[in-house]
Amino acid sequence: MLSEVLSKKACAQCGFCCSFRRQSLWELPRVPVSFTEKYRTDVNGEPVEYTFGEENGAACAVTELHGKYRTDAPEEEVLCPFLDPDSGCTLPAEDKPFDCSIWPLRYMRMPDGEMRVCLTPTCPEINKVPQERMRKLVADGLGEKIAEYAEKYPFMIKEYKNGFPVM
Ligand code: SF4
Repeated sequence: MLSEVLSKKACAQCGFCCSFRRQSLWELPRVPVSFTEKYRTDVNGEPVEYTFGEENGAACAVTELHGKYRTDAPEEEVLCPFLDPDSGCTLPAEDKPFDCSIWPLRYMRMPDGEMRVCLTPTCPEINKVPQERMRKLVADGLGEKIAEYAEKYPFMIKEYKNGFPVM
């Protein structure tokens, strides 16, 4: 969805949003339960563990990575089970979690309860793109698509975090 501003090649080479420190596990993509029935194994053919729950009143799942860390170092990163370190995400576009399709945009609940599309400020690639270009992309239809998805799958809504520019 963001191919206009982020090239697939740049994302595959970066992989920032597909590897997770403990402190960024909240960023793991939420998926519908049906996804977990289709994708039971990782890129190496090993079983994928999921945690099931409910967010914003909607059932969802998230890959379970807590047990994958090998050290206590806060900077240790664990890869998403669907990431091939050489070629990037192995999921077909139609099954890629929506959270991943719109990264580094996020749909967030602001302190006043309003919903806004916000930008994750830590994405190394998006920081090379002027924010005005991102705002235009959101205003030209992407924001509407995100809101429509959130209406159907509210588990993708996140609470606002300081430092995320509103688009
Ligand atoms: S599902 Fe694909 S795009 Fe999303 S975090 Fe995993 S590897 Fe990255």
